[in-house]
Amino acid sequence: MKGTLYYGNRDIRIEEIDEPILKNGEAKIRVDYCGICATDIEEYLYGPNAISSTPPHPLTGISTPIVIGHELTGTVVETYNTHTEITPGQRVVINGILSCKKCNWCKSGNPQQCPVSGSVGFAANGGLAEFISWPISHIIPLPNNVPSLEAALTEPAAVAAHAVDKGMVTAGNTVAVVGTGTVGILAMQIAKSRGAKVIAIDTRQLSLKTAAELNADETILADDPHIETRLKDISNGPGPDVVIDAAGTSDTPKNCIKFVREGGRVVVVAIYIDTTNLDFNSIVTTEKEIIGCNSYTKDDVEEVVKLLSNGQLKTKPLISGIIGLDDVLDIGFKKMLEPQKDIFRLLVSPSLG
Ligand SMILES: [Zn+2]
Ligand SMILES: [Zn+2]
Repeated sequence: MKGTLYYGNRDIRIEEIDEPILKNGEAKIRVDYCGICATDIEEYLYGPNAISSTPPHPLTGISTPIVIGHELTGTVVETYNTHTEITPGQRVVINGILSCKKCNWCKSGNPQQCPVSGSVGFAANGGLAEFISWPISHIIPLPNNVPSLEAALTEPAAVAAHAVDKGMVTAGNTVAVVGTGTVGILAMQIAKSRGAKVIAIDTRQLSLKTAAELNADETILADDPHIETRLKDISNGPGPDVVIDAAGTSDTPKNCIKFVREGGRVVVVAIYIDTTNLDFNSIVTTEKEIIGCNSYTKDDVEEVVKLLSNGQLKTKPLISGIIGLDDVLDIGFKKMLEPQKDIFRLLVSPSLG
């Protein structure tokens, strides 16, 4: 089969590789769509960071070259376990996080905090290929009314759901999302599904336009000189209860702390390439909280599938194009590497060749 292999820094190749061989408890999935994510680009430019090279990943034993791609949906073609509700022909998404299942974090329902946890496409072969094998325990069937195309954004949506969880967003809260790219816009919709008023903040007009189409209550350009006053007005005085940083520039954490109300919560869900200076006194004196958010849990994936099914989460406006595996580098990566990109997600459909 054809697969997209990460060999190392700026070295990704589309190659003919063996199809996965199933182990007991696994299913073979034909990949219908797999997104190219900014994290893939960061690994290409600055990695290997999250991708396991040397030594191999402690949990999976896998190292480079590794098939990348962590945002996938597909159809089960085979299972190595007859006692399962997952059967061939079923359209599915996956919980892409593997963990040891033995440590305190795993036992307390936080496998994403497990010291040896690893993700599909980083610690195990991923979805930018024709087929993938994955543990049946980590497979979630799609309801009939959720098209595979729209389910292709389940992974970034699960990350977004996790960020909204970490922010403890409840009905009546005001939530500002800084950086309304794919994860930001998904977080905005999920916060809204919980009854929050949501504000989209971004430097790109395209992002704000899409955020408005997807029911942002307010949109603000990031360089608006009156941004703090506007945020206070919208939240009737104190500022947003929760600010989610999905932008991840060296300035955004500082700004998020400035924007959030006293005692409010800032959730950081981006990957920061540059370090940042923070004035910790501004946190001490206001009891604001900064909360880290890493990947997601199976519950987050299940919540996303429910929201896709009941129409509260819309992903179609975030799909900017569909390409074949042969075009992952020449079209996909090239487009994602443009400094002023005018896209959200590019999906790869292996059936296109
Ligand atoms: Zn991603
Ligand atoms: Zn563990």
